[in-house]
Amino acid sequence: MYGQLYRRLLLPVFDRVIKRRHTLGYWADIERSQWWSHEQLEAHQLEAVRNLLAQTARNCPYYREEWQQRGLNSSHLQSLADLTAWPLIDRSTIREHRQRMRSTVATQLLTKATGGSSGEPLEFDFNSDSNDRRTAQMFRGYSWAGGAPGTKQLFIWGGALTTVPRWKRWKMALHHRLDRHLVLNCFEFTPERMRQGFDRLNRYRPEVIVAYTNPLYEFARFLDEHGLRPVAPRSIIIGAEKLHGFQRDLIQNVFRAPVFETYGSREFMLIGAECERHAGLHLSMENLLVEILDDDGTPTPAGQEGNVVITDLFNYGMPFVRYVNGDRAIAGFDVCSCGRGLPLLKQVTGRRLDSLTTPDGRTIPGEFFPHLLKDFPAIRRIQVVQRDPAVITLKLVAPSLTNDDRLLMLDAIHACTGFAVTIELDLVDDIPLTKVGKLKVVVREVDGPSLMANRKSSPIC
Ligand SMILES: [Zn+2]
Repeated sequence: MYGQLYRRLLLPVFDRVIKRRHTLGYWADIERSQWWSHEQLEAHQLEAVRNLLAQTARNCPYYREEWQQRGLNSSHLQSLADLTAWPLIDRSTIREHRQRMRSTVATQLLTKATGGSSGEPLEFDFNSDSNDRRTAQMFRGYSWAGGAPGTKQLFIWGGALTTVPRWKRWKMALHHRLDRHLVLNCFEFTPERMRQGFDRLNRYRPEVIVAYTNPLYEFARFLDEHGLRPVAPRSIIIGAEKLHGFQRDLIQNVFRAPVFETYGSREFMLIGAECERHAGLHLSMENLLVEILDDDGTPTPAGQEGNVVITDLFNYGMPFVRYVNGDRAIAGFDVCSCGRGLPLLKQVTGRRLDSLTTPDGRTIPGEFFPHLLKDFPAIRRIQVVQRDPAVITLKLVAPSLTNDDRLLMLDAIHACTGFAVTIELDLVDDIPLTKVGKLKVVVREVDGPSLMANRKSSPIC
């Protein structure tokens, strides 16, 4: 009842009348276009890319100069594949050239920053129209999981409430009340807080839980170990952190609800989301052009892992044209049996720097370490740090770890890393989350290979 009232009255009044946004119109558009054929969607992308390149070359000094030097002109773009001639950019490009990447004719740019635990945040800009479009993508993607605006949602993630002024906190609280959102702050996930979180969850009875992977996984393990049975929501939407199969299984068992994975970032909001078939992540294709490239910059063959490269088709304010976002994903864009024309991204495998190298030349995928959580139940939280090529330190929150566990764990790790690297186990009381409430599983502070030729690899947060 409230959901209907919210969608039909409150949201339209807020969006169209008060904020003068076009979110709902864009949402209606993409509800239709998701059923277009793949060819229709690609034709839409090609036209959007041409417009973007033409406007960007006209209005953004940085891009104009870079492209002119290479003799690139948007009128040469005959197909989406031709875009591979355009140069890549990354975080370091934005750090160095942000002012000159902005459109000289744009008014009222919005600014955001990506969070980070080790490096400084990255600031970037976007125009409000592109913001409306990305919000619409989020509405659609969350709707696939039963989490349309107006549904009763419990959020389990971070929010730096202490640094927010009081008036803003009140405003946020009011918004949460109207939006029917309850937020559990994952910074505070001590056992007592988790117990309280369980009580609040059961009192609130959300239709949908929206969460970061690691806090929700920790919460699910806590409930499981203590025999606490939460009320079952209709579904669970997971984002912001890699979701492993064993995490999905436990979360689904504990909450007795299907998990819908999403993939997004501060720069673009929702990049992909699962539909009811759970066969991969449908890309937000009307807004974003996603490429998966090898380390030499050529498209990665289907089934192999590559670098995620994204072009935002409508951020004319500060265009992101072929932005290497630092994530790795499996290439190959499959068709889903649900009938939507939006291709599926098979799997996001992690951050580019989430792998470690050893002095004898082995590459250890960061993927390896979270699996220790599954095999060693005494570990509550884990972080892997490599500050020296010859030393890997495992920080563990594991008060009940036995000596046998330690020996077995070292054996398992050495079997993967070899013996050219020393493994240190560092038992700690806590591993702080990043400013935005994520767990940084791998902290790598030694240099690795970079996709961006002639550029230093940029610190990834
Ligand atoms: Zn589907």
